[in-house]
Amino acid sequence: MNCEQLLNTTFQCQCGKTHNVPIRKIVYAEDAVEAMPSILTAFTSGRRIAILADSRTWSIAGEKAGSLLRQGGWTVTPVLVPDSARGGPICDDRTFRNLHRNLPPADILLAVGAGVINDLAKWLAFERDLPYAVCATAATMNGYAAANVAPTVKGVKTLHVARAPQAVFAVPSVIRDAPFELTAAGLGDVLAKPVSTADWLMNHLLLDEYFCPFCARLINDLEPAYFDHPTAIRDRQPAALEALFTALVYSGVAMTVVGTSAPASGGEHMLSHTLDMMSSVDNVPHDLHGRQVGLGTIFAAALYEQILKIDTPKPVLPPADIDHNFWQHLAPNVAEQYQNKQPLLNTIAQKITNPQTWNTFREAVRPHVRTPQQIKNCLKQASAAHTGTDINCPRPRLKNAILHMHEIRKRPTVIDLARLLNILPTQTDPLIDQYLTH
Ligand SMILES: [Zn+2]
Ligand SMILES: [Zn+2]
Repeated sequence: MNCEQLLNTTFQCQCGKTHNVPIRKIVYAEDAVEAMPSILTAFTSGRRIAILADSRTWSIAGEKAGSLLRQGGWTVTPVLVPDSARGGPICDDRTFRNLHRNLPPADILLAVGAGVINDLAKWLAFERDLPYAVCATAATMNGYAAANVAPTVKGVKTLHVARAPQAVFAVPSVIRDAPFELTAAGLGDVLAKPVSTADWLMNHLLLDEYFCPFCARLINDLEPAYFDHPTAIRDRQPAALEALFTALVYSGVAMTVVGTSAPASGGEHMLSHTLDMMSSVDNVPHDLHGRQVGLGTIFAAALYEQILKIDTPKPVLPPADIDHNFWQHLAPNVAEQYQNKQPLLNTIAQKITNPQTWNTFREAVRPHVRTPQQIKNCLKQASAAHTGTDINCPRPRLKNAILHMHEIRKRPTVIDLARLLNILPTQTDPLIDQYLTH
């Protein structure tokens, strides 16, 4: 399937819904920046553009975009997002308020950067009701084409709907020359796909959640280019990087079309979110999203491997409350998510004791999941993070995250299923030893 044909269309899908793809253009080309002035002209009748960047992405592509846009008749105002005390800029309510207050008059926004800059621009575009476009500087996460933004508000990681970009631009040589750990993180994020699809199916089959087979398949054709050839990512081969970047962008398209993060974020993301949240409790730094997701994906695949071996499930209901002491100031938010999940877990526990339902579930999920060893080998051969040491997380901290990651989100995932089937917490140590320590 040629994904590009979907851009800027509304179509009747096999899932019964009418899907709308608001993203109009994806340009992955050496002259992508040169193409901006004419492409952006189609998105607004005004000619004032604000370019959001940090000091690094400004020199990588922002400055060039600014001068070409000026030559093309645009009034350009650079908006440099300051670095945080810890390093790069962050997407939180404080940074957002400052940008919002000081945003120059503009008809369109252009983000030049990766996750944080893109999220801030998308959030601003939404609040100001402006169109926006992004020039991606690294293949590091799947949020470029997603309508969601994931800011930290009052110290808590949140997720809300903002808006999708009109266009995504990327220059292959910029993507190639980005720090390699960013690219390896992108691989970790896109490898989440088999687990997130399986989790989405689980919600569909056991909780009657909406599921779109078309969106679930959207990036399947791109997968072999990086999954079967991870050393091509390590060696920064152009075709593999393009496949990785495109898969990340279309993962975002799938989330935008469906309106939730279900197509690209399931139980494998919980480890990463938990580590981020732990960091907000104790100030111990966390690693890049995609690097943590890579480990989470290995672990979630290991859980599926155990789950699919079970012929007759004997579910045990998890504790009624969360570990308040562990979550500290985050406890009220976490508890709310967890409480909302309880009725869903009860339903799942009931349904999986029906042998027919259980077998239907296993047969549906089996073709999607990969073995933990396959995921690990792929990350390892690509020189991406695949152990606790790689992400600077000592074993006790990793174990703590794994023991608490089922508490943070309302939507059930493989982590909850593993809890219901008593694989967690009982197998925590052997699974960490087998898959995340070397
Ligand atoms: Zn659909
Ligand atoms: Zn992700």
